[in-house]
Formats: sequence, C-alpha cells, structure tokens
Amino acid sequence: MTENNTAIVLAAGQGQRMQSKIQKQFLEIQGYPVLYYSLRCFQESPLIRNIILVTGEKTVSYCKEEIVDKYGFTKVTSVIAGGKERYDSVYAGLCACSEIPCDYVFIHDGARPFATPEMIGRAYEAVCRWGACAVGMPVKDTIKLVDENGCVVSCPKRSLVWQAQTPQAFELSLIVEAFERQLKEDCSHITDDAMVVEKQLGVPVYMVEGSYNNIKITTPEDLVIARAFLNV
Ligand code: C5P
Repeated sequence: MTENNTAIVLAAGQGQRMQSKIQKQFLEIQGYPVLYYSLRCFQESPLIRNIILVTGEKTVSYCKEEIVDKYGFTKVTSVIAGGKERYDSVYAGLCACSEIPCDYVFIHDGARPFATPEMIGRAYEAVCRWGACAVGMPVKDTIKLVDENGCVVSCPKRSLVWQAQTPQAFELSLIVEAFERQLKEDCSHITDDAMVVEKQLGVPVYMVEGSYNNIKITTPEDLVIARAFLNV
C-alpha cells in the first residue's frame, strides 16, 4: 500500500429518533452491533490503513472492549470522544488524523452498516483524482423544495438529484481547512462533510455510486429493513 488512508467512523450520536434506550450504533442486527458492520468494511478494505473510532465520552471503554477488542478490529488505532453535534465529532476525528500519517480521510457514519469495500474503492479512485467525493445514489422519488409553510417552491430535475451517503472521502489538508473555516461560523445547517468543502472552499465534490442498501439506521423501521437485507 502506498497511501496512508484513514477512516473516521462516527458513533457519538444519541440517536433520539430511534426511540430506544440503546444508541442506534450499538443495537444488534443478526447478533452483531450495527457498529460492527460499519467498522468491518474498513477493516477488510486493503485501501485503509488506520481507523479512528469516535464515540461518546461515556462509551469509549465500552467500544474498546466490547467492539474493537472483541471483534479484532486491528486497524482501529484510537477510540476518542466526539462532541455534541456530528460536525464536532468529525472535527475531533480530523484532529486525531492530523497526528498520524494520513493523505486521504474517509468519513463514515457508524450507523450505516452496509457500506462495502467496493464502495471504498470507488471513493478512493475519485478522491485521488478530484480531492473530494461522496458516495450517494440518484433519488427514486421526485423531490420538492418547500417553504416554511410546506408550499412547494421548486421541483429540481430528478435525474440531477442524488441522496448523499457516506463514506465521503477528502484530502486531509482540504477537509481540515474547510472545517476550521466552518467552525468559526454558524454550523446549525451542517448535515454532511461534503457541504463544508463545497461552501467554504468552493471545491467541487464528486458523487460516486454507493448503494440503495447503504442506509443509515435512524428510525425503528430502518432496523427491520436492515434485518431483511442481512437475511437475503
Ligand atoms: O444524527 P445522524 O443520524 O445524522 O448521525 C450520523 C452519524 O453521526 C451516526 O453514526 C452518529 O453516531 C454520528 N454522530 C456523532 N456525533 C454526534 C452526532 C452524530 O458521531 N454528536
């Protein structure tokens, strides 16, 4: 391997929309926690050298013992505490990346268990070429933009609308600069990492094919869907 690629896997969310006492990344599907699957694809990808796992302050030891050691995730070099919002957790991961040799960083939701090494491969090709990319898929439904009253403002051409997924991959120096600028401003609308690069640096972000299976476990019905995916 010639590159030093690092995955940041985010597992510091509270998962309030799941209506469960257990955070969604630790809920089990087919006998393994959601986070196990999310880490496994980076462990198995020959393109990834190190994994930084970002979790809640109170779950650092749990993750080390019950996930990293238990399932033998040898590429996990650190388990660190994240922050209040997703972007705080990402920034904590980026700071940890800056302490190890790292060219490209792959940021991934720990609540997204069905990313694959093939997806990582496609993202790697794109990030080497363009410096910034996100996996995603063209939307299946027509999308409406509405105002605060729910009234349609516009209807973008469907063939040009993609849903963003993770992993999203960036040159480390590029994403760090984008985050450092963003964190000085209002971050309340930030829901993924590509938008920080687009907005702060004006750098184009390329979409690469993810998969319709690459869902984020967010609400209870997502667990039913995830179990169904694993049964086929
Ligand atoms: O909240 P959302 O579903 O967008 O979270 C996406 C991912 O980001 C999840 O894996 C979650 O654990 C993580 N996250 C985090 N730190 C936060 C909020 C979310 O690591 N403060």
